[in-house]
Amino acid sequence: MRNFLIAGNWKMNCGISATNKLLNGIKEITTSLPDGVDGLVCPPSISLQTAADVLEDIEGMTLGAQNVHFEDNGAYTGEISTQMLNEVGSEYVILGHSERREYFGETDKIVNAKVLKSLEDGLKTVICVGESLKERKADEHKLRVRKQVQAALTGVEDGDATNVVIAYEPIWAIGTGETATPDQAQEMHKMIRSVLEGVFNQESASKIQILYGGSMKPHNAEELLQQPDVDGGLIGGASLKADSFTEIIDIAKQ
Ligand code: PEP
Repeated sequence: MRNFLIAGNWKMNCGISATNKLLNGIKEITTSLPDGVDGLVCPPSISLQTAADVLEDIEGMTLGAQNVHFEDNGAYTGEISTQMLNEVGSEYVILGHSERREYFGETDKIVNAKVLKSLEDGLKTVICVGESLKERKADEHKLRVRKQVQAALTGVEDGDATNVVIAYEPIWAIGTGETATPDQAQEMHKMIRSVLEGVFNQESASKIQILYGGSMKPHNAEELLQQPDVDGGLIGGASLKADSFTEIIDIAKQ
């Protein structure tokens, strides 16, 4: 019922020439994504235009940004706006990644402002949530993630549910090589879906893609993607290699 979404978060990697090389590498492997699988790549903002040009030749693979500001324009040095993303052809934006929360002081309130602005201006949002190792060890992970989802979606209208994607990314699994077990992922995704049922209605919640993120690689993708509430992956390291990324797309297809 839900398509898989295989999304690459390139973080601060790939300037213009590396973006050309990586996406042309993907294009050599595939020019059309399989039925039932949506692809997404999120390069740094300076490489968005280059990526948009190459993506014209890869059917089913769309473009996203890694961040956006919640104001229209003005004196916000270093920031980019939703209109700028629309202009470059970015369909999605990643919001609330744990690295932005940790290193750039993004609070739940700021994430919510960005979500509302992005949806208002027609962007699809990939909203990242996830607990720290300390919170998991203290058995506070469900409470933490529930609060993050509810806060991020405060004020979002039911009609916008189709433009919302949630990425569950336990912080202890990001870039560490450690992955949540399929059972741990499913337990959290199911809980997130129940929170979404409270925010929206059951039908809308059933359509929202919930991605798993945290050291997803070709060797562990299958068992994670087999879980009923895991609808894809937000992939960091493995999205920087054309063969690994397309391999995960192939696994999702099965
Ligand atoms: C991420 O940054 O969203 C991520 C999941 O990274 P990695 O796949 O490298 O753990």
